[in-house]
Parts: sequence; C-alpha cells; structure tokens
Amino acid sequence: MSNIVAIVGRPNVGKSTLYNRLTESRKAIVDDLSGVTRDRHYGLAEWTNRTFTVVDTGGYVANSEDLFETAIREQVLIAIEEATVILFIADVTTGPTDLDDSIADMLRRSNKPVFVVANKVDNNQLLSETHIFYSFGLGDIYPISSMTGSGTGELLDEVVKHF
Ligand code: GDP
Ligand code: MG
Repeated sequence: MSNIVAIVGRPNVGKSTLYNRLTESRKAIVDDLSGVTRDRHYGLAEWTNRTFTVVDTGGYVANSEDLFETAIREQVLIAIEEATVILFIADVTTGPTDLDDSIADMLRRSNKPVFVVANKVDNNQLLSETHIFYSFGLGDIYPISSMTGSGTGELLDEVVKHF
C-alpha cells in the first residue's frame, strides 16, 4: 500500500501548483481563477528514493458560498480518511481566513500528521510573515514557494519520515 500525501486548503492558495511541482505532471489544472480544478487528482512523486502518491484536492464546483464550503469540508474529510500525511496549504500573501480556520479545526480533530505549509513565500521578506499561521494550533510552519520550489525539499524531508 502506497503512502498518500493529500494537499488540502481553500481555493487559490496554490495546491495545484504544488501538486504539479511534486508530481511533475501536467494533469492538474492550474488557473488564475479559483475553483477550477475538478475532483481529485492522484499523481506519483519521489523524494530521496521513496515513492508516494500525491493527491490534489479540487472539486470545488459548487457556486453558492455554503455549498462551496461544504465541498471543501468533504475534501478535507476524505483526506483525513485516506492520507498518510496531510499538507494544509495557506497563503502568506493573504494570511489566515475564516475558511482556513474552519479547515484547521477539522484537521486538529484528526489523528493524522498535518504539516502547515505557508505558500507563496517567494522572498525573505515574506518569511517573517509566516509565524501568523501558528494561530491554527497545528504546530510548525513550513514556508515554501510552489512557484520557485524553495522550501519544498525541507518539507519533503520531514514528510517522508512519516512513511
Ligand atoms: P489552488 O486553487 O489552491 O489549486 O491554487 P493554484 O495552484 O491554482 O494557484 C492559484 C494562484 O496562485 C495561481 O495564479 C498560481 O500561479 C499562484 N501561485 C501558486 N503558488 C504560488 C507561489 O508560490 N507564489 C506565487 N507568487 N504565486 C503562486
Ligand atoms: Mg487547484
């Protein structure tokens, strides 16, 4: 049974960009508009000679605010069920939102290892903003830039320890 790393978070935080970087696949749709990635995408990744499955959780096809949040919560519940490790992605350029907080609540109640990933840390100035995500109560913050790839190695070094 393969190890599964699920990428969760609200729309537009960079989940698909990270998925594409980890899997070097072009299957997930990346778009400037939020909510375009449908369903869930599974891809293979490798780090330090370990292979694992990465899941990009999209499926945000609902259009009312309530349904939208329900769809996200459903994705998080599936991730809690199936994943070995969960990557909870937040966006340093916006800071925590109400939706982030409600996802964090669900993840705190799970028994799965959760990594809080501060994405879009494209420069050192943004690095100093990442401490704000300690408010999730989910432990250490892993700053990355899915765009440049910086920080992803340090993150994966810790992730593979759970396999
Ligand atoms: P998703 O909705 O969570 O899957 O987010 P996407 O991967 O589709 O990314 C949403 C937007 O954020 C796109 O315009 C990406 O190019 C942008 N983005 C993703 N990662 C980064 C990053 O590390 N830095 C910056 N500056 N933008 C990013
Ligand atoms: Mg996406």
